[in-house]
Amino acid sequence: MIQFFNTLSGEKEPFAPLVPGEVKLYTCGPTVYDFSHIGNLRAYVFEDLLKRFLQFRGFRVAHVMNITDVDDKTIRGANAQSVSLNEYTKPYIEAFFKDLNVLNISPADHYPRATEHIAEMVRIIKALLEKGIAYRTDASIYFSIAKFPGYGKLSKINLDQLRSTKRVESDEYEKESAQDFALWKAPKEGEPYWDTEIGPGRPGWHIECSAMSSKFLGPTFDIHCGGVDNIFPHHENEIAQSETYFGKPVVNYWLHCHHLIVNGEKMSKSKGNYFTLRDLVQKRQVKPMALRFLLLSTHYRKVLNFTFEALEQAEAAWQRIKDFLYELEHHAFPSGKNSDSQKLLEETNDRFVEGLSDDLNISVALTALFELIKKTNVLIKDGKICADDAKDTVSFVYSLDRVFALLPSKKDMDLADELRPKIQEREQARKERNFKRADEIRKELLEAGIILEDTKDGVRWKILEKRG
Ligand code: AMP
Ligand code: ZN
Repeated sequence: MIQFFNTLSGEKEPFAPLVPGEVKLYTCGPTVYDFSHIGNLRAYVFEDLLKRFLQFRGFRVAHVMNITDVDDKTIRGANAQSVSLNEYTKPYIEAFFKDLNVLNISPADHYPRATEHIAEMVRIIKALLEKGIAYRTDASIYFSIAKFPGYGKLSKINLDQLRSTKRVESDEYEKESAQDFALWKAPKEGEPYWDTEIGPGRPGWHIECSAMSSKFLGPTFDIHCGGVDNIFPHHENEIAQSETYFGKPVVNYWLHCHHLIVNGEKMSKSKGNYFTLRDLVQKRQVKPMALRFLLLSTHYRKVLNFTFEALEQAEAAWQRIKDFLYELEHHAFPSGKNSDSQKLLEETNDRFVEGLSDDLNISVALTALFELIKKTNVLIKDGKICADDAKDTVSFVYSLDRVFALLPSKKDMDLADELRPKIQEREQARKERNFKRADEIRKELLEAGIILEDTKDGVRWKILEKRG
């Protein structure tokens, strides 16, 4: 049995998707006004763990992640640079996909963009107006939370004490005030807007996710994820909009990951206490898989305190897994099979599955893996590992890695951007028969961990794995 902690009920619940064997998953994506920071990436790594584990357990997962490319922040950024919204968000969208790739986060099936789903949002807002749940004020349209009896059920706010008679136009606000929120914002001087049948304007943030989740996954789907900061107001408002529109519950399991913090504070752009992946990789030579290990290794509902010391420990742990595989792949073992080793693999598998089935208890799963390493090393020392055991253990670790996704050697890794032009420069040097320069570049690349092979189909490259 798999169970997940559902924010809605406040309890762990057995997981059963609407359609047996298939999971419909929606995860809140980036607001593309800047590069993602590693706090955002913690949320995406958690969602990746969830998805990969469900796939490991045999579910087919349909995954949708939205891209918020119109909101107060993207508009502010575009105006500051005097460019269109699209021009402004494009590099951040590209950087976002690159970050996912660098961290081995498997891609979603769809990445719908808010600006491409205005019609779907307008349809819902129009229906909410017709139902009398939404109202117009100053050419904007607001949702009346007093008319949705379930308001507050996700975030557990006490409406009697907190309900404010005010309205709020901004998309983000604190739990201390439950207010009518904007579904559609009237055009303002210098801001982009759409001419639609509900009037000119632009959507609020919350309506985006109601429109895009239902378009791609249907009115009711299985799992909705985000960080805990999304619970209120974003997800609370999403429930209010979608349940009013569809007249039924829309999400069965709400899963939220806790924050990545630095010195006791949530990592965020507004506080300035953040690191981006590119900063860590380029300026501090952090290995992406060490960061993935760090982000994965704390249970998703616990706060994770980011330190460079913790990152070093994560790298050492990750290296231990790779060294273990190297040893098993390169040591000469006697032929045959040993029951001790086979039994150990079975036990490890059971603990791994049991751990992650219990609300993604990653500590149990990682402990199982590291105990396998420790115990197998003892067996090796005692001469109790045979060639078949070594082979089975390697395959087994790779099978677990379908969930952890920490072993980049099995993946067709993308070359770091700064190395690509080098390869082209070398090609050019070879064409010009400047073999001295070509050789110099080959050496430089080798130092950076890239091996080049000249084949009749052109140049091929391989990442050189650091061994021991
Ligand atoms: P945003 O781009 O701000 O809309 O956030 C994208 C995702 O990152 C959302 O799921 C947020 O809840 C999540 N997030 C933002 N900051 C953090 C943080 N410090 N730790 C973990 N998740 C975060
Ligand atoms: Zn969302």
